[in-house]
Amino acid sequence: MEIYCPKCHWDPPAEARWSCSCGHAWNTFETQGRCPNCGKVWRQTQCLACHRWSPHHDWYHDLPPVEALLEQHPATVES
Ligand SMILES: [Zn+2]
Ligand SMILES: [Zn+2]
Repeated sequence: MEIYCPKCHWDPPAEARWSCSCGHAWNTFETQGRCPNCGKVWRQTQCLACHRWSPHHDWYHDLPPVEALLEQHPATVES
């Protein structure tokens, strides 16, 4: 799973913590942005490095476009 800030490419370590409005602190990427204490879903996630907000799903980069996949793994043609 490739997870990093879409604005500065900061890669959040496992020990990174985000604070919910209820006061609970946890790693938001372990719960897809859902506070395990009060259940609030955070659709925007603030970067702890550049402090800018981005949509939570924009942090996930493990779904490259089809073109990139084909470039990295060109199909072998049997002749
Ligand atoms: Zn950032
Ligand atoms: Zn909460």
